[in-house]
Amino acid sequence: MTFSLRPTYADPHLADLVGRLRDYLEGELADYENERGFTHESRLTRADLEPVWRRSRELGFYGIHLPAEHGGQDLSYTALAALKEEIGASGRVLGHSVLGDMGGPLRAGDILQYATEQQLRKYLLPLIRGERACCFSLTETDAGSDVRSMRTTAARDGEGYRLNGHKVFSSAGPFADFAIVVARMAGTGEAEGDKPSFSAFLVDLDSPGCRVDAGATPMSGEHIESDIILEDCFVPAANLLGEEGKGMRIALGRVTTNRLLHCPTVIGATRRALDLTLERTRHRKVADGQPLLTLQAIQHKVADMATELYAARSMTYAALAALDQGADVRTEAFMCKLFVAESAFRILDEAVQIHGKEGLTQGNEIEFLFRKIRMFRILTGTSEIQRNGIARGLAFPA
Ligand SMILES: Cc1cc2nc3c(=O)[nH]c(=O)nc-3n(C[C@H](O)[C@H](O)[C@H](O)COP(=O)(O)OP(=O)(O)OC[C@H]3O[C@@H](n4cnc5c(N)ncnc54)[C@H](O)[C@@H]3O)c2cc1C
Repeated sequence: MTFSLRPTYADPHLADLVGRLRDYLEGELADYENERGFTHESRLTRADLEPVWRRSRELGFYGIHLPAEHGGQDLSYTALAALKEEIGASGRVLGHSVLGDMGGPLRAGDILQYATEQQLRKYLLPLIRGERACCFSLTETDAGSDVRSMRTTAARDGEGYRLNGHKVFSSAGPFADFAIVVARMAGTGEAEGDKPSFSAFLVDLDSPGCRVDAGATPMSGEHIESDIILEDCFVPAANLLGEEGKGMRIALGRVTTNRLLHCPTVIGATRRALDLTLERTRHRKVADGQPLLTLQAIQHKVADMATELYAARSMTYAALAALDQGADVRTEAFMCKLFVAESAFRILDEAVQIHGKEGLTQGNEIEFLFRKIRMFRILTGTSEIQRNGIARGLAFPA
């Protein structure tokens, strides 16, 4: 793999897809956003997103990674990553809605494999068509990295379950019709030494006893997360996802794939930051009217930024290629998530430094990207949790 701020692809099909995606992001989608004046801090509504889901579906991008029977192209992880990278690099506010990250097929992840016929028909096929949307609700105020300490419970009740609890930071919550909720089975894990058992449920967000609240706003300033509050919320047995007691495996399995698939989006955003920074250094005049890029101090910074980006990108695509070949890349996924998050943070910090006061000014894209990228060291598992995973893989190789 060579270094480029606008990668090309030898595979003609992928090259065509990337070309068409760039055209859509830079043309039609940019126009849609500009006409409506959307910014990353806009309070977007479902009505703002739905036309993008539908259009992306028409263009073949929404759910493109899925098998043909579900309207996709059965894309490899590597090819999907190349598309995700382009979206990250586009800087588009609604980029998250093109491939189905915001409530669509990518948010649901690989839970398709656990769905019953009825669940497929009622929830997941409409989701793939962009008619319904979901969020994924695992985290609670006092249960983040240590998800097993969650307090949300599910108690058997007649033909279903009663759910009680309060989930926070469910991405896509403001646009979702249903949530994939993981809850502890009531009566398990309560006594000393008793192992908790967890189950996953598809919960209609308009069910009696279920409320969706705005919740906290993260430092990115985006309004794309919700709290999901469950108060004696009845969930029919038909909405149990997979087997009772296997919910944590389903949830964490989804997180492992997502961990690797989040990396190209961040790499794309980092690529954009480097691009914007190079542009700035070519035009910003300092020191006797010379552009910033003529200063060795600045040249060294951009050299380090590009080198870190190249390393992050190379290792991510190497892990993705191994995953495509069926390898177990759990440890590599932890490594990629760690290195991509940490290097992107360093790159964005230098991008702000090189932009001077402009990089500190609200409304400047670098200022937004710095805040957005900073979150990635915590999202989808913190850097410390990635290190724990790497060390576990080293200590107990498969
Ligand atoms: C914008 C945003 C979107 C999110 N989207 C979702 C979503 O869609 N669905 C969802 O369920 N959750 C979501 N989350 C939650 C996210 O996954 C958690 O924030 C994350 O897992 C970390 O949990 P925590 O914030 O509670 O940190 P904590 O677990 O409280 O960790 C605090 C610090 O302690 C460290 N630490 C904790 N345990 C260990 C350990 N064992 N070893 C070493 N260090 C440790 C951490 O690394 C961290 O530095 C989102 C969060 C944000 C901010």
